[in-house]
Amino acid sequence: MSKQIVDKINNLIKQHHEFFSRAIPLIASENITSKACRMATICDFQHRYAEGWPGKRVYAGCEYLDQVELICQDLAQKYWRASFADVRPISGVVANLALYTAMTTPKGKMMAMPIPSGGHISHAPKIAKQTGKEINGTAGTVRGLDVEYLAFDQKEMNLNIDESAKRIRAFKPELVLFGGSVFLFPHPVKELSAVAKEVGAHVAYDGAHVAGLIGSGYFQDPLREGAEAFTLSTHKTFPGPQHGCILTNGPDELNEKVKSACFPSMLSNHHLHNVAGFAITLAEMMEFGKVYHGQVIKNAKALAAALAAAGFKPLCEHKGYTASHQVVLDVTGLEKTFGLGADIEKALEKAAIIVNRNLLPWDAKEKREYTNPGGLRLGTSEVTRLGMKESDMKVIADFFKKIIIDKKDPKTIAPDVAEFAKNFQTVKFCFEETKAFQWY
Ligand SMILES: *Cc1c(COP(=O)(O)O)cnc(C)c1O
Repeated sequence: MSKQIVDKINNLIKQHHEFFSRAIPLIASENITSKACRMATICDFQHRYAEGWPGKRVYAGCEYLDQVELICQDLAQKYWRASFADVRPISGVVANLALYTAMTTPKGKMMAMPIPSGGHISHAPKIAKQTGKEINGTAGTVRGLDVEYLAFDQKEMNLNIDESAKRIRAFKPELVLFGGSVFLFPHPVKELSAVAKEVGAHVAYDGAHVAGLIGSGYFQDPLREGAEAFTLSTHKTFPGPQHGCILTNGPDELNEKVKSACFPSMLSNHHLHNVAGFAITLAEMMEFGKVYHGQVIKNAKALAAALAAAGFKPLCEHKGYTASHQVVLDVTGLEKTFGLGADIEKALEKAAIIVNRNLLPWDAKEKREYTNPGGLRLGTSEVTRLGMKESDMKVIADFFKKIIIDKKDPKTIAPDVAEFAKNFQTVKFCFEETKAFQWY
């Protein structure tokens, strides 16, 4: 019996790999790693502990682990132009929790993006102030923070500077956090940091989604626009293993707070194998990131334009749709002929086109919920790492049209999707290109 379970799990992994090799992966928060990165993430590091800071560990046996972590810190500082990097957070949420520990007092006050407009659940309060509903966001539930939302301009899909400034002055938070999960355009960090500093608030930036774009010199540069700290995930636009990181430009006092928030407060082991994979991916992005991330953004703009030409409604046409890896589609209006976000997500999945449904900022007002919202969020980071270019975005838009507008049975489109996907089975923008959907 037990051996059968082993076979079963291995078989399910194999089936997953086969499924993805026939698929078009468009989840905006996902990406794919190189062989060199994957090899590092299965090494003996995954069995080890290295609590503390390199050179000052509370475990023995860390000689080589320490060297890898120091290289990772150094490369992260160079890539993101920071003077300090803590590469121990095991994910973006853990990085945010360490940030809250370093920059707020328990039950203190924080401001962030509204969740329905694209803020992340780790920024959210326990109870939503507008509706009184329990949403159990990380900031409110784990740190007890009283979270007030910055003001959002739905037409511009960005923060409203004047209204947000008013709210910061009235609420006087300890921390203002920029960044979000729906992230089409750079946030006005410079303008609002100045206001935050007037009321003595710390300023930080959650670049989980856009970290790769920032490192490669696109999008914005939060540490030079007023953010004192920058948290990130290493596996969204940055194509590394699942992990997190916190960057600052000092001072030492802040760095010491971040370090002690990570250990001993937040972490015991810190997934050393992924620190190694992170370091390798940093080396790859320092070499290939400029071209890779430039293409990611070009593809996102091309995908939005092709979808608009095919009859869909990508947000923010008046601003060129996007300045990031994301495209947000408004699928309202299709409810009578096809369905909403969840219906479309399911239909596309049957053709192995993988997307995620997403709330539009005005969904709540129009009585749509997350279970079947009015939006879809698409991302081009992974398909770009697999080698797709602008012309391929037209092919993808055509698949969307056939399934959703022409209402062809997705099962009949799946073979065409698989045939198209055959051309994109190699992980690029790394030193040794290899097959994508296999162990390593
Ligand atoms: C994805 C995301 C996170 C969390 O990322 P994990 O690495 O999965 O913990 C944090 N903040 C934002 C804005 C995100 O989009």
